Amino acid sequence: MKEKKKLSLAMQIFIALVLAIVAGLLLGNHADFAKAYINPFGTIFLNLLKFIVVPIVLFSIMSGIISMSDIRKVGSIGLKTVLYYLCTTAFAITIGLIGGNLFKGMFPMIATTDLSYEAAETTSFMDTLVNIFPSNFIDPLYSANMLQVIVMAILIGFAIILVGKEAQPVITGVNSLNAVFMKCMEMILKLSPIGVFCLLCPVIAENGATIIGSLAMVLLTAYICYIVHAAVVYSIAVKTMGGMSPIKFFQGMLPAIMFAFSSASSVGTLPINMECTQKLGASKEVSSFVLPLGATINMDGTAIYQGVCAIFIAACYGIQLTFPQMITIVLTATLASIGTAGVPGAGMVMLTMVLTSVGLPVEGVALVAGVDRIFDMGRTTVNITGDASCTVIVSNLEKKKEARKNKNA
Ligand code: ASP
Repeated sequence: MKEKKKLSLAMQIFIALVLAIVAGLLLGNHADFAKAYINPFGTIFLNLLKFIVVPIVLFSIMSGIISMSDIRKVGSIGLKTVLYYLCTTAFAITIGLIGGNLFKGMFPMIATTDLSYEAAETTSFMDTLVNIFPSNFIDPLYSANMLQVIVMAILIGFAIILVGKEAQPVITGVNSLNAVFMKCMEMILKLSPIGVFCLLCPVIAENGATIIGSLAMVLLTAYICYIVHAAVVYSIAVKTMGGMSPIKFFQGMLPAIMFAFSSASSVGTLPINMECTQKLGASKEVSSFVLPLGATINMDGTAIYQGVCAIFIAACYGIQLTFPQMITIVLTATLASIGTAGVPGAGMVMLTMVLTSVGLPVEGVALVAGVDRIFDMGRTTVNITGDASCTVIVSNLEKKKEARKNKNA
């Protein structure tokens, strides 16, 4: 009997992506139909992802920490990860600012009168810091506050290591719950081609024509910066520190990249990102710690977007940004990207924080809000690729360290 050859998930997602673009363009005059009848199925898929994300982050970080069974090792991986995340984000925002300044002359003058934008409440840096620490055991899980879930997971993970033998039943429990939720995730991921189609088709139907409108230049600038950042920063980092050819890296990342592009959610892409990095050879203990952390705090694409949009909005208002203001943007955009949730549209809310920090009018967000989804697809793709590059690098550095240790032993 001939064995039926199954299409890989990546291929299925790719086909869904192409079909969504074609169907979206065809449905251009019936965007309402796409929004009313196709989008809800995408929402069902996103809901399932949101459902699985809290247990996945909680149990995978805990089981990642437990598997290292040594607090010093967790510390060393954690330090490398946070350092890499901060440095690449600073690079990203710098690229965004340079790109914005280079293309500034081509940004159209858009009438800024009559603009109104209801700014969501932004919190101060100190409040953001305080809010990372949960004051309740259930609430972070219930409200899916990912930073608090991460703190919980790290705290409990450390405690399990310190308790040692006595915590054996808990270790077994955490590991088996991790396996169960991973299985759930695998089942949900099987639906991703349908999810991708239903999410992307209405976006194309609605925005297909407007993309070529007055915002084309800003969008193009942002996309050029996204590509430059990924092609230069990640390629160099992966090659020099990760010991991997950039081509192999990007090829291996394709399923996650396509998924992030269509879903605009780093947190939603987490499961598929884990799969891709592990297939690229990253160890499970590193990926289960570094990726959930990155999906929450590492947002290079968002930082780029904030830099480009700040310059664009300033240009629209005829404001010339000074060098110290640019430095302020670098600092606030780095913090803003850490505070951005890995869900669609979150980066635009945080843009208000960046604008306020340099005294730009918050209403300026209204200028870019209409096409935020298109910015978002690109920035999310960069966000998750950054997380994956860190995973490959930290995993490689840890393997080398282990090998050196074994040699000396
Ligand atoms: N959608 C982005 C993400 O999930 C966050 C953002 O809006 O910038 O990574």
